[in-house]
Amino acid sequence: MAKILVTGGLGFIGSHTVVELINAGYEPVIVDDLSNSNVKILDQLTKILGRKPIFHQLDLCDEAGVKQLLSAEPDIDGIIHFAAFKAVGESVEFPLKYYRNNFYSLINLLNTYYSKPVNFVFSSSCTVYGQPDQLPVTENASVKPAESPYGNTKQIAEEILKDMIASGGSRYKVIALRYFNPVGAHESALIGELPVGVPQNLVPFVTQTAIGKREKITVFGNDYHTPDGSCIRDYIHVVDLAKAHVAALKLMEQESFTGYDVFNIGTGKGTSVLEIIDAFERSTGEKLNFVIGPRRPGDVEQVWGDVTKSTNVLGWKTELDIDTMMASAWAWEKYIANNPL
Ligand code: NAD
Repeated sequence: MAKILVTGGLGFIGSHTVVELINAGYEPVIVDDLSNSNVKILDQLTKILGRKPIFHQLDLCDEAGVKQLLSAEPDIDGIIHFAAFKAVGESVEFPLKYYRNNFYSLINLLNTYYSKPVNFVFSSSCTVYGQPDQLPVTENASVKPAESPYGNTKQIAEEILKDMIASGGSRYKVIALRYFNPVGAHESALIGELPVGVPQNLVPFVTQTAIGKREKITVFGNDYHTPDGSCIRDYIHVVDLAKAHVAALKLMEQESFTGYDVFNIGTGKGTSVLEIIDAFERSTGEKLNFVIGPRRPGDVEQVWGDVTKSTNVLGWKTELDIDTMMASAWAWEKYIANNPL
């Protein structure tokens, strides 16, 4: 059974990917320092999977610790590298914290497994596109100057990976997946997104408002050049996103795949903030208290991905719709309210 190191495997996307890896016959090995997750997610995964996944608690910035990981886990066939800090606003306030964590962890990992034939999946982001000139945005679109230190870590990490492959020195194959906006939760409602403090993303804010943790939700601007005036994003169910990682590993297992490639991972459809609110109310029967506020600085007006390449080359596409995303996010919010971790 191919062993896949899943860094950040107790986080939001990582935990869902662990489930899909096991469903697809892989053996995931989770590495997480719990800086933005909870060790009880391991118990939740055990409930879903019927057995406890392998777990190493480790900060990947600790070079000696990563070397020890190599001794403990020498036979790794693939790495899915989720571990990173991801809060855009915090990265503006504390850029060094972001550059340190997101680069040290990546470089330690790459150095340590450098001589091994490893299939490496990197968590990139549609933030690399900024406000694209053309929609839907394709992988060939020019990468805009990053809007935040967080976005910059994704752009530079892609460059690091490309340079490493171009040097010919390593035995890696690399796929960077540019995620659009992951939302929703596993159908069991046993795992989902665990935002720390005030959620930065729309859907956790929606569910926390509906459950009464937040008084109301503010829609940041209804005067954008979009059909209903609110911002548009490409929301993707986290389970569909998790399956894209399995597809990426399968592609790299083919001898014909060499080097480095990048794929958009979204639905190919844009949904506005007001449409999300509507879908939430429709699929859950809950009424949301929302107000229209001013635009939020730094928000891109609209972005959604062209997923032709991921459909044709990766052989992957999304299956779950917006209503399923909302209903599953709501089921998770209710579960966590009744069963705090
Ligand atoms: P998350 O914070 O839920 O998961 C990241 C996990 O990595 C956490 O469990 C955290 O404890 C762990 N981690 C962080 N630094 C670490 C370190 N130095 N050593 C070991 N573990 C460490 O985030 P997520 O939403 O699951 O995102 C996963 C990846 O996807 C990140 O790289 C993120 O930048 C990227 N991404 C996320 C989104 C999104 O909207 N969620 C969008 C695009 C890209």
